[in-house]
Amino acid sequence: MKRKISRSFVILSIVAILLTTTLITFVYYNFFCVQVMEDLKDSASLLQEYGDLEGLQEDSGEERFQGIRVTLINSGGEVLFDNGANRNSMENHFDRPEIQDALANGEGESVRNSQTMSRNSFYYAIKLSDGNVLRVAKDAGSIFSIFSSVLPSILWILAALALLSIGMAHFLAGKLIIPIERLAENMDDRMELEEYQELKPFIDRIRKQHQDLVKNARMRQEFTANVSHELKTPLTSISGYAELIETGMASQEDVVHFASGIHRSANRLLALINDIIRLSELDAGEAQPPFEKLNLYDMAMSCVEMLDFSAQKHEVTLSADGSESYIHGNRRMIDELLYNLIDNAIRYNNKGGSVSVSVYPDSEDAKKTILTVEDTGIGIPKEHQERIFERFYRVDKSRSQSTGGTGLGLAIVKHIIARHKAEMELESEVGKGTRIKVTFTD
Ligand code: ADP
Repeated sequence: MKRKISRSFVILSIVAILLTTTLITFVYYNFFCVQVMEDLKDSASLLQEYGDLEGLQEDSGEERFQGIRVTLINSGGEVLFDNGANRNSMENHFDRPEIQDALANGEGESVRNSQTMSRNSFYYAIKLSDGNVLRVAKDAGSIFSIFSSVLPSILWILAALALLSIGMAHFLAGKLIIPIERLAENMDDRMELEEYQELKPFIDRIRKQHQDLVKNARMRQEFTANVSHELKTPLTSISGYAELIETGMASQEDVVHFASGIHRSANRLLALINDIIRLSELDAGEAQPPFEKLNLYDMAMSCVEMLDFSAQKHEVTLSADGSESYIHGNRRMIDELLYNLIDNAIRYNNKGGSVSVSVYPDSEDAKKTILTVEDTGIGIPKEHQERIFERFYRVDKSRSQSTGGTGLGLAIVKHIIARHKAEMELESEVGKGTRIKVTFTD
Protein backbone atom coordinates (compact mmCIF):
# COMPACT_ATOMS: atom_id res chain seq x y z
CA MET A 1 0.00 0.00 0.00
CA LYS A 2 2.82 2.32 0.98
CA ARG A 3 4.60 1.51 -2.25
CA LYS A 4 1.48 2.11 -4.26
CA ILE A 5 0.86 5.49 -2.64
CA SER A 6 4.53 6.47 -3.19
CA ARG A 7 4.40 5.39 -6.81
CA SER A 8 1.21 7.34 -7.46
CA PHE A 9 2.73 10.41 -5.80
CA VAL A 10 5.88 10.21 -7.96
CA ILE A 11 3.92 9.66 -11.19
CA LEU A 12 1.63 12.53 -10.30
CA SER A 13 4.56 14.87 -9.59
CA ILE A 14 6.36 13.95 -12.84
CA VAL A 15 3.21 14.46 -14.90
CA ALA A 16 2.60 17.77 -13.13
CA ILE A 17 6.18 18.92 -13.74
CA LEU A 18 6.10 17.95 -17.43
CA LEU A 19 2.74 19.61 -17.99
CA THR A 20 3.82 22.79 -16.23
CA THR A 21 7.08 23.07 -18.20
CA THR A 22 5.33 22.51 -21.52
CA LEU A 23 2.65 25.02 -20.66
CA ILE A 24 5.13 27.60 -19.42
CA THR A 25 7.23 27.16 -22.60
CA PHE A 26 4.19 27.84 -24.77
CA VAL A 27 3.09 30.85 -22.77
CA TYR A 28 6.60 32.21 -22.72
CA TYR A 29 7.03 31.66 -26.46
CA ASN A 30 3.79 33.45 -27.21
CA PHE A 31 4.92 36.35 -25.12
CA PHE A 32 8.26 36.27 -26.91
CA CYS A 33 6.53 36.41 -30.35
CA VAL A 34 4.41 39.38 -29.31
CA GLN A 35 7.55 41.11 -28.07
CA VAL A 36 9.46 40.50 -31.34
CA MET A 37 6.53 41.82 -33.35
CA GLU A 38 6.27 44.91 -31.11
CA ASP A 39 10.00 45.58 -31.67
CA LEU A 40 9.50 45.27 -35.42
CA LYS A 41 6.55 47.68 -35.29
CA ASP A 42 8.69 50.19 -33.36
CA SER A 43 11.52 49.84 -35.88
CA ALA A 44 9.09 50.27 -38.77
CA SER A 45 7.56 53.44 -37.36
CA LEU A 46 11.02 54.86 -36.53
CA LEU A 47 12.13 54.17 -40.09
CA GLN A 48 8.95 55.63 -41.47
CA GLU A 49 9.40 58.81 -39.53
CA TYR A 50 13.13 59.39 -39.52
CA GLY A 51 14.56 57.08 -42.17
CA ASP A 52 15.62 58.37 -45.55
CA LEU A 53 13.33 56.07 -47.49
CA GLU A 54 13.84 57.74 -50.86
CA GLY A 55 17.55 57.61 -50.36
CA LEU A 56 17.37 53.90 -49.70
CA GLN A 57 16.51 53.12 -53.26
CA GLU A 58 19.88 54.35 -54.43
CA ASP A 59 21.65 52.51 -51.63
CA SER A 60 23.96 49.64 -52.32
CA GLY A 61 22.08 47.35 -49.93
CA GLU A 62 24.72 46.72 -47.26
CA GLU A 63 23.63 45.99 -43.67
CA ARG A 64 22.68 49.31 -42.21
CA PHE A 65 20.04 48.27 -39.71
CA GLN A 66 21.77 45.91 -37.27
CA GLY A 67 20.02 42.55 -37.48
CA ILE A 68 16.86 43.96 -39.00
CA ARG A 69 16.13 43.25 -42.61
CA VAL A 70 14.48 46.17 -44.34
CA THR A 71 12.70 45.78 -47.65
CA LEU A 72 10.94 48.41 -49.70
CA ILE A 73 8.33 47.14 -52.12
CA ASN A 74 6.15 49.04 -54.54
CA SER A 75 2.44 48.49 -54.85
CA GLY A 76 3.02 45.95 -57.61
CA GLY A 77 5.15 43.77 -55.39
CA GLU A 78 8.48 44.70 -57.02
CA VAL A 79 11.36 44.94 -54.56
CA LEU A 80 12.83 48.44 -54.62
CA PHE A 81 15.35 47.88 -51.88
CA ASP A 82 16.51 45.08 -49.60
CA ASN A 83 19.42 45.33 -47.20
CA GLY A 84 19.82 41.56 -46.96
CA ALA A 85 19.98 40.58 -50.63
CA ASN A 86 20.46 41.98 -54.08
CA ARG A 87 17.12 43.43 -55.10
CA ASN A 88 17.62 42.49 -58.71
CA SER A 89 17.76 38.80 -57.89
CA MET A 90 14.59 38.95 -55.76
CA GLU A 91 11.26 37.66 -56.97
CA ASN A 92 8.05 39.65 -56.86
CA HIS A 93 6.71 39.97 -53.31
CA PHE A 94 3.10 40.73 -54.13
CA ASP A 95 1.80 37.37 -52.87
CA ARG A 96 3.43 37.57 -49.44
CA PRO A 97 0.68 37.66 -46.81
CA GLU A 98 2.10 40.63 -44.87
CA ILE A 99 2.41 42.67 -48.12
CA GLN A 100 -1.13 41.77 -49.14
CA ASP A 101 -2.44 42.83 -45.74
CA ALA A 102 -0.44 46.07 -45.77
CA LEU A 103 -1.71 46.97 -49.23
CA ALA A 104 -5.27 46.19 -48.25
CA ASN A 105 -5.41 47.38 -44.62
CA GLY A 106 -2.41 49.63 -44.08
CA GLU A 107 -0.34 47.09 -42.15
CA GLY A 108 0.28 43.37 -42.05
CA GLU A 109 2.33 40.82 -40.19
CA SER A 110 3.29 37.20 -40.53
CA VAL A 111 5.62 34.58 -39.09
CA ARG A 112 7.20 31.96 -41.31
CA ASN A 113 9.32 28.96 -40.55
CA SER A 114 12.72 28.94 -42.11
CA GLN A 115 13.90 25.70 -43.67
CA THR A 116 15.84 24.56 -40.65
CA MET A 117 12.86 24.70 -38.27
CA SER A 118 15.18 26.05 -35.66
CA ARG A 119 14.47 29.66 -36.63
CA ASN A 120 11.39 31.64 -37.49
CA SER A 121 11.18 34.78 -39.59
CA PHE A 122 8.96 37.57 -38.28
CA TYR A 123 7.66 40.08 -40.84
CA TYR A 124 5.92 43.39 -40.33
CA ALA A 125 4.83 45.52 -43.27
CA ILE A 126 3.34 49.01 -43.37
CA LYS A 127 1.91 50.96 -46.28
CA LEU A 128 3.67 54.28 -46.83
CA SER A 129 1.97 57.47 -47.94
CA ASP A 130 3.51 57.17 -51.41
CA GLY A 131 1.83 53.77 -51.96
CA ASN A 132 4.98 51.73 -51.42
CA VAL A 133 5.24 49.17 -48.65
CA LEU A 134 7.98 49.15 -46.01
CA ARG A 135 8.68 45.73 -44.58
CA VAL A 136 10.88 44.99 -41.63
CA ALA A 137 11.87 41.42 -40.72
CA LYS A 138 13.82 39.66 -38.06
CA ASP A 139 14.89 36.05 -37.49
CA ALA A 140 14.37 34.62 -34.05
CA GLY A 141 14.58 31.19 -32.47
CA SER A 142 11.56 28.94 -33.06
CA ILE A 143 9.72 27.32 -30.22
CA PHE A 144 11.75 24.14 -30.79
CA SER A 145 15.09 25.90 -30.55
CA ILE A 146 14.01 27.77 -27.43
CA PHE A 147 12.72 24.56 -25.92
CA SER A 148 15.85 22.59 -26.79
CA SER A 149 18.07 25.34 -25.42
CA VAL A 150 16.30 25.19 -22.03
CA LEU A 151 15.88 21.41 -22.14
CA PRO A 152 19.07 20.55 -20.17
CA SER A 153 18.06 22.88 -17.34
CA ILE A 154 14.53 21.51 -17.45
CA LEU A 155 15.90 17.99 -17.18
CA TRP A 156 18.02 18.96 -14.20
CA ILE A 157 15.08 20.59 -12.48
CA LEU A 158 12.95 17.59 -13.35
CA ALA A 159 15.47 15.19 -11.84
CA ALA A 160 15.76 17.33 -8.70
CA LEU A 161 11.98 17.63 -8.36
CA ALA A 162 11.49 13.91 -9.01
CA LEU A 163 13.98 13.12 -6.26
CA LEU A 164 12.25 15.58 -3.96
CA SER A 165 8.83 14.15 -4.74
CA ILE A 166 10.09 10.58 -4.18
CA GLY A 167 11.33 11.68 -0.76
CA MET A 168 8.11 13.54 -0.01
CA ALA A 169 5.99 10.66 -1.27
CA HIS A 170 7.83 8.27 0.95
CA PHE A 171 7.48 10.54 3.93
CA LEU A 172 3.81 11.33 3.35
CA ALA A 173 2.85 7.74 2.57
CA GLY A 174 4.62 6.68 5.75
CA LYS A 175 2.77 9.33 7.74
CA LEU A 176 -0.56 8.29 6.25
CA ILE A 177 0.03 4.66 7.06
CA ILE A 178 1.32 5.09 10.64
CA PRO A 179 -2.11 5.10 12.34
CA ILE A 180 -3.18 2.06 10.35
CA GLU A 181 0.00 0.21 11.29
CA ARG A 182 -0.45 1.21 14.91
CA LEU A 183 -4.00 -0.03 14.79
CA ALA A 184 -2.90 -3.31 13.26
CA GLU A 185 -0.47 -3.80 16.13
CA ASN A 186 -2.98 -2.96 18.78
CA MET A 187 -6.67 -2.84 17.93
CA ASP A 188 -7.54 -1.14 21.20
CA ASP A 189 -5.17 1.77 20.66
CA ARG A 190 -7.42 4.74 21.42
CA MET A 191 -5.46 7.26 19.32
CA GLU A 192 -7.09 10.30 17.79
CA LEU A 193 -8.29 9.65 14.28
CA GLU A 194 -9.52 13.16 13.57
CA GLU A 195 -7.59 13.39 10.31
CA TYR A 196 -8.93 10.06 9.17
CA GLN A 197 -12.66 10.72 9.18
CA GLU A 198 -13.12 8.66 5.99
CA LEU A 199 -11.46 5.66 7.60
CA LYS A 200 -13.53 5.90 10.78
CA PRO A 201 -16.43 3.62 9.74
CA PHE A 202 -13.94 1.07 8.47
CA ILE A 203 -11.84 1.22 11.64
CA ASP A 204 -14.91 1.14 13.89
CA ARG A 205 -16.12 -1.92 12.08
CA ILE A 206 -12.79 -3.71 12.39
CA ARG A 207 -12.64 -2.75 16.07
CA LYS A 208 -16.14 -4.08 16.59
CA GLN A 209 -15.29 -7.34 14.82
CA HIS A 210 -12.13 -7.61 16.85
CA GLN A 211 -14.04 -7.07 20.10
CA ASP A 212 -16.60 -9.66 19.02
CA LEU A 213 -13.83 -12.12 18.24
CA VAL A 214 -12.20 -11.56 21.63
CA LYS A 215 -15.59 -11.88 23.34
CA ASN A 216 -16.41 -15.05 21.44
CA ALA A 217 -13.05 -16.59 22.25
CA ARG A 218 -13.56 -15.79 25.94
CA MET A 219 -17.08 -17.21 25.91
CA ARG A 220 -15.91 -20.39 24.21
CA GLN A 221 -13.17 -20.79 26.78
CA GLU A 222 -15.64 -20.26 29.62
CA PHE A 223 -18.07 -22.67 28.02
CA THR A 224 -15.42 -25.40 27.74
CA ALA A 225 -14.49 -24.90 31.39
CA ASN A 226 -18.17 -25.02 32.40
CA VAL A 227 -18.84 -28.13 30.33
CA SER A 228 -15.93 -29.95 31.95
CA HIS A 229 -17.15 -28.93 35.37
CA GLU A 230 -20.78 -29.93 34.66
CA LEU A 231 -19.74 -33.34 33.32
CA LYS A 232 -17.44 -33.95 36.24
CA THR A 233 -20.14 -33.79 38.91
CA PRO A 234 -22.40 -36.67 37.72
CA LEU A 235 -19.37 -38.73 36.71
CA THR A 236 -17.86 -38.35 40.17
CA SER A 237 -21.06 -39.51 41.81
CA ILE A 238 -21.42 -42.46 39.38
CA SER A 239 -17.85 -43.44 40.18
CA GLY A 240 -18.49 -43.08 43.95
CA TYR A 241 -21.65 -45.22 43.94
CA ALA A 242 -20.00 -47.85 41.77
CA GLU A 243 -17.04 -48.01 44.12
CA LEU A 244 -19.31 -48.55 47.13
CA ILE A 245 -21.06 -51.42 45.36
CA GLU A 246 -17.71 -52.82 44.21
CA THR A 247 -16.38 -53.22 47.76
CA GLY A 248 -19.36 -55.52 48.48
CA MET A 249 -20.04 -53.79 51.74
CA ALA A 250 -23.34 -52.29 50.72
CA SER A 251 -26.50 -54.04 51.74
CA GLN A 252 -29.02 -55.13 49.15
CA GLU A 253 -31.12 -52.11 50.04
CA ASP A 254 -28.16 -49.74 49.57
CA VAL A 255 -27.31 -51.29 46.23
CA VAL A 256 -30.77 -50.43 44.96
CA HIS A 257 -30.35 -46.91 46.29
CA PHE A 258 -26.88 -46.54 44.73
CA ALA A 259 -28.08 -47.95 41.43
CA SER A 260 -30.84 -45.37 41.31
CA GLY A 261 -28.17 -42.69 42.03
CA ILE A 262 -26.10 -44.01 39.16
CA HIS A 263 -29.20 -44.00 36.95
CA ARG A 264 -30.01 -40.39 37.84
CA SER A 265 -26.46 -39.19 37.23
CA ALA A 266 -26.23 -41.10 33.95
CA ASN A 267 -29.51 -39.46 32.82
CA ARG A 268 -28.11 -36.10 33.79
CA LEU A 269 -24.98 -36.80 31.78
CA LEU A 270 -27.07 -37.80 28.79
CA ALA A 271 -29.25 -34.68 29.06
CA LEU A 272 -26.14 -32.51 29.34
CA ILE A 273 -24.43 -34.13 26.40
CA ASN A 274 -27.57 -33.84 24.28
CA ASP A 275 -27.91 -30.13 25.01
CA ILE A 276 -24.19 -29.48 24.45
CA ILE A 277 -24.32 -31.28 21.10
CA ARG A 278 -27.47 -29.36 20.16
CA LEU A 279 -25.88 -26.02 21.06
CA SER A 280 -22.73 -26.71 19.09
CA GLU A 281 -24.88 -27.80 16.15
CA LEU A 282 -26.72 -24.49 16.37
CA ASP A 283 -23.43 -22.60 16.73
CA ALA A 284 -21.83 -24.17 13.69
CA GLY A 285 -25.09 -24.94 11.93
CA GLU A 286 -26.12 -24.35 8.39
CA ALA A 287 -26.46 -20.69 7.50
CA GLN A 288 -30.08 -21.32 6.57
CA PRO A 289 -31.70 -24.47 8.04
CA PRO A 290 -34.71 -25.77 6.09
CA PHE A 291 -37.67 -23.46 6.80
CA GLU A 292 -41.27 -24.35 6.04
CA LYS A 293 -44.78 -23.13 6.75
CA LEU A 294 -45.68 -24.34 10.24
CA ASN A 295 -48.93 -24.36 12.13
CA LEU A 296 -47.67 -23.04 15.44
CA TYR A 297 -51.00 -23.66 17.14
CA ASP A 298 -50.94 -27.39 16.27
CA MET A 299 -47.35 -27.72 17.34
CA ALA A 300 -47.99 -26.02 20.69
CA MET A 301 -50.99 -28.32 21.32
CA SER A 302 -48.86 -31.42 20.62
CA CYS A 303 -46.18 -30.20 22.97
CA VAL A 304 -48.73 -29.51 25.71
CA GLU A 305 -50.07 -33.05 25.27
CA MET A 306 -46.58 -34.49 25.45
CA LEU A 307 -45.74 -32.58 28.66
CA ASP A 308 -49.08 -33.25 30.33
CA PHE A 309 -47.71 -36.24 32.19
CA SER A 310 -44.82 -34.20 33.56
CA ALA A 311 -47.30 -31.49 34.64
CA GLN A 312 -49.38 -34.03 36.51
CA LYS A 313 -46.22 -35.31 38.19
CA HIS A 314 -45.46 -31.77 39.38
CA GLU A 315 -49.10 -31.25 40.34
CA VAL A 316 -49.40 -28.38 37.91
CA THR A 317 -52.41 -27.67 35.69
CA LEU A 318 -51.42 -27.29 32.06
CA SER A 319 -53.85 -25.56 29.72
CA ALA A 320 -53.70 -24.23 26.18
CA ASP A 321 -55.75 -22.00 23.97
CA GLY A 322 -55.46 -20.12 20.70
CA SER A 323 -56.33 -20.36 17.03
CA GLU A 324 -54.76 -21.44 13.77
CA SER A 325 -51.53 -19.48 13.37
CA TYR A 326 -48.94 -20.03 10.70
CA ILE A 327 -45.30 -19.09 10.86
CA HIS A 328 -42.32 -19.71 8.68
CA GLY A 329 -39.71 -21.73 10.53
CA ASN A 330 -37.69 -24.84 11.14
CA ARG A 331 -39.86 -27.60 12.61
CA ARG A 332 -37.23 -29.14 14.85
CA MET A 333 -36.16 -25.79 16.28
CA ILE A 334 -39.74 -24.64 16.98
CA ASP A 335 -40.43 -27.97 18.71
CA GLU A 336 -37.37 -27.44 20.91
CA LEU A 337 -38.39 -23.86 21.67
CA LEU A 338 -41.90 -24.90 22.76
CA TYR A 339 -40.60 -27.83 24.77
CA ASN A 340 -37.99 -25.79 26.64
CA LEU A 341 -40.37 -22.94 27.52
CA ILE A 342 -43.27 -25.15 28.66
CA ASP A 343 -40.94 -27.56 30.46
CA ASN A 344 -39.40 -24.66 32.42
CA ALA A 345 -42.88 -23.30 33.29
CA ILE A 346 -43.77 -26.71 34.76
CA ARG A 347 -40.45 -27.30 36.55
CA TYR A 348 -40.19 -23.88 38.17
CA ASN A 349 -43.74 -23.99 39.42
CA ASN A 350 -45.38 -24.66 42.74
CA LYS A 351 -47.61 -27.54 43.66
CA GLY A 352 -51.16 -26.64 42.64
CA GLY A 353 -49.88 -23.99 40.23
CA SER A 354 -50.78 -23.59 36.59
CA VAL A 355 -49.23 -23.10 33.18
CA SER A 356 -51.13 -21.62 30.25
CA VAL A 357 -49.92 -21.67 26.69
CA SER A 358 -51.54 -19.54 24.01
CA VAL A 359 -50.98 -19.04 20.31
CA TYR A 360 -52.78 -16.26 18.41
CA PRO A 361 -52.27 -14.26 15.28
CA ASP A 362 -51.51 -10.67 16.35
CA SER A 363 -54.77 -8.69 16.29
CA GLU A 364 -52.92 -5.50 15.27
CA ASP A 365 -50.57 -6.89 12.67
CA ALA A 366 -51.67 -9.82 10.50
CA LYS A 367 -48.06 -10.70 9.73
CA LYS A 368 -47.32 -11.41 13.38
CA THR A 369 -48.00 -14.46 15.52
CA ILE A 370 -47.75 -14.38 19.28
CA LEU A 371 -46.86 -17.31 21.51
CA THR A 372 -47.22 -16.87 25.27
CA VAL A 373 -46.16 -19.28 28.00
CA GLU A 374 -47.35 -18.10 31.40
CA ASP A 375 -46.91 -19.78 34.76
CA THR A 376 -47.83 -19.11 38.38
CA GLY A 377 -44.44 -20.39 39.50
CA ILE A 378 -41.56 -19.15 41.63
CA GLY A 379 -40.64 -16.24 39.34
CA ILE A 380 -37.19 -14.89 38.52
CA PRO A 381 -35.56 -12.11 40.58
CA LYS A 382 -34.94 -8.90 38.55
CA GLU A 383 -31.14 -9.14 38.77
CA HIS A 384 -31.15 -12.60 37.16
CA GLN A 385 -33.61 -11.90 34.39
CA GLU A 386 -30.97 -10.73 31.89
CA ARG A 387 -28.62 -13.58 32.58
CA ILE A 388 -30.82 -16.68 32.50
CA PHE A 389 -30.27 -16.91 28.73
CA GLU A 390 -26.53 -17.43 29.25
CA ARG A 391 -25.17 -20.94 29.02
CA PHE A 392 -25.21 -22.78 32.35
CA TYR A 393 -26.65 -19.77 34.17
CA ARG A 394 -29.17 -20.93 36.80
CA VAL A 395 -30.88 -18.95 39.52
CA ASP A 396 -31.05 -21.95 41.85
CA LYS A 397 -28.67 -24.67 40.74
CA SER A 398 -29.98 -27.41 43.01
CA ARG A 399 -33.58 -26.88 41.93
CA SER A 400 -32.54 -26.95 38.29
CA GLN A 401 -30.56 -30.17 38.77
CA SER A 402 -33.18 -31.91 40.86
CA THR A 403 -35.73 -31.34 38.10
CA GLY A 404 -33.40 -32.51 35.35
CA GLY A 405 -32.28 -29.10 34.10
CA THR A 406 -28.97 -28.58 32.34
CA GLY A 407 -28.78 -24.79 32.39
CA LEU A 408 -28.72 -24.79 28.59
CA GLY A 409 -32.42 -24.75 27.70
CA LEU A 410 -32.85 -20.99 27.45
CA ALA A 411 -29.48 -20.61 25.67
CA ILE A 412 -30.88 -22.91 22.99
CA VAL A 413 -34.15 -20.91 22.97
CA LYS A 414 -32.22 -17.67 22.49
CA HIS A 415 -30.38 -19.19 19.53
CA ILE A 416 -33.62 -20.35 17.92
CA ILE A 417 -35.29 -16.96 18.44
CA ALA A 418 -32.36 -15.26 16.70
CA ARG A 419 -32.44 -17.71 13.80
CA HIS A 420 -36.13 -16.98 13.28
CA LYS A 421 -35.71 -13.24 13.70
CA ALA A 422 -38.39 -13.44 16.35
CA GLU A 423 -38.64 -11.24 19.44
CA MET A 424 -38.90 -12.35 23.04
CA GLU A 425 -40.18 -10.49 26.09
CA LEU A 426 -39.88 -11.71 29.64
CA GLU A 427 -41.98 -10.55 32.55
CA SER A 428 -41.47 -12.15 35.91
CA GLU A 429 -42.11 -11.49 39.54
CA VAL A 430 -40.75 -13.54 42.40
CA GLY A 431 -43.51 -15.60 44.05
CA LYS A 432 -46.06 -14.68 41.37
CA GLY A 433 -44.88 -16.22 38.18
CA THR A 434 -43.31 -15.75 34.79
CA ARG A 435 -44.66 -14.80 31.40
CA ILE A 436 -42.61 -15.27 28.23
CA LYS A 437 -43.96 -13.78 25.01
CA VAL A 438 -42.47 -14.66 21.64
CA THR A 439 -43.48 -12.68 18.55
CA PHE A 440 -42.86 -14.23 15.13
CA THR A 441 -43.02 -12.06 12.04
CA ASP A 442 -43.60 -13.72 8.70
P1 ADP B 1 -32.41 -25.17 33.28
O1 ADP B 1 -32.07 -26.39 32.60
O2 ADP B 1 -31.66 -24.94 34.55
O3 ADP B 1 -33.87 -24.98 33.46
P2 ADP B 1 -32.64 -22.96 31.44
O4 ADP B 1 -31.65 -22.38 30.57
O5 ADP B 1 -33.88 -23.53 30.84
O6 ADP B 1 -31.90 -24.01 32.34
O7 ADP B 1 -33.08 -21.83 32.46
C1 ADP B 1 -32.10 -21.12 33.13
C2 ADP B 1 -32.59 -20.68 34.50
O8 ADP B 1 -33.64 -19.75 34.38
C3 ADP B 1 -33.17 -21.80 35.31
O9 ADP B 1 -32.17 -22.47 36.00
C4 ADP B 1 -34.12 -21.05 36.23
O10 ADP B 1 -33.39 -20.57 37.33
C5 ADP B 1 -34.58 -19.88 35.42
N1 ADP B 1 -35.91 -20.11 34.79
C6 ADP B 1 -36.16 -20.49 33.55
N2 ADP B 1 -37.49 -20.55 33.30
C7 ADP B 1 -38.10 -20.19 34.44
C8 ADP B 1 -39.48 -20.04 34.85
N3 ADP B 1 -40.50 -20.29 34.01
N4 ADP B 1 -39.72 -19.64 36.12
C9 ADP B 1 -38.71 -19.40 36.95
N5 ADP B 1 -37.40 -19.51 36.63
C10 ADP B 1 -37.09 -19.90 35.40
